[in-house]
Amino acid sequence: MELSRWLQWVLMSCVVTAAVFAGLVFPASVAAQSPPPDRQVAITIDDLPAGNSDKMPAAMITEMTTNLLAALQQQKVPAVGFVNEKKVYKWGQVDERIKALQMWLDAGFDLGNHTYSHLSLNQVGLKAWEDDVVQGESVLKLLLAQRNKKLRYFRHPYLDTGRDLLTRREAEAFLVERGYRIAPVTVDAWDWNFGGVYEESKKRGDTATQQELVKEYLAYTDAEFAYSEQLSMQLLGYQPKQILLLHANQMEAEHFNELVDVIRKRGYRFITLEDALSDQAYGLPDTFVGEEGTGWLDHWAITMGKPPQGSPRFPAWVDERYKVLPLPPQPQQPH
Ligand SMILES: [Zn+2]
Repeated sequence: MELSRWLQWVLMSCVVTAAVFAGLVFPASVAAQSPPPDRQVAITIDDLPAGNSDKMPAAMITEMTTNLLAALQQQKVPAVGFVNEKKVYKWGQVDERIKALQMWLDAGFDLGNHTYSHLSLNQVGLKAWEDDVVQGESVLKLLLAQRNKKLRYFRHPYLDTGRDLLTRREAEAFLVERGYRIAPVTVDAWDWNFGGVYEESKKRGDTATQQELVKEYLAYTDAEFAYSEQLSMQLLGYQPKQILLLHANQMEAEHFNELVDVIRKRGYRFITLEDALSDQAYGLPDTFVGEEGTGWLDHWAITMGKPPQGSPRFPAWVDERYKVLPLPPQPQQPH
């Protein structure tokens, strides 16, 4: 007994001495030895050619697309853009709107289907929704075929995957039959909400509000990543290859470099959606159904009977400002 206590004391002393020594003599090398987390994320950008296309002239969409693609290329970030084809049909501006999609493909990025008119599967019947998926393929298939590419990704508008399991499974089977891979989301910082207020502030020349929004957006993105990482560990015991949801808007186009800085600082490298989907997490059981769409980490948590808690609080003032934005004009019908 006495001997073992003595041995314990000797061992403890050695450990403490070694730790103090290492800390005093080799603080830098000790810090360098802890490997940075190897985190991976795929970027997806929805609502192409522009989330706010009804209020945006075609020339502005082209400019925004140019800025966004330049930032993606400069940062060497792969991305898939998800298209609502209805937005490229507007009398007198068809060619220029399609040009934004061509620019995406010419810059080497992929495009996926986000339905023709951004229909929610939770709001319309399955048949009407399927028709909207098919209608959303015509221009995309043509543009992709010109480059010997196939249409292969689908993203659910509003992340609405069905209010009941039968509808959800039938919709999924329909998508698979048409050759699609569903693009899940695991990190979502509601940039459409910040971006809507940003565009309205920009129109008024209110640069102070724009700056404040960007600051809030970047901080909220950082918090959303931290939350997704923590939830991943809790549910899966590891951090899968994450998939981030962004939207085609002016805020993203003008501040993408700052967003990339925030994500890289968390130890991420950017991967393709195809690579992300190879993660086994995307094959996990998922029986989520609900009125409101949500991310796949929530799907898995709810399927496991562990409803997620502690998500970051969205800045209330941004949401208040979003709610009172002037309503977009009635979408114009194709002629
Ligand atoms: Zn969308």
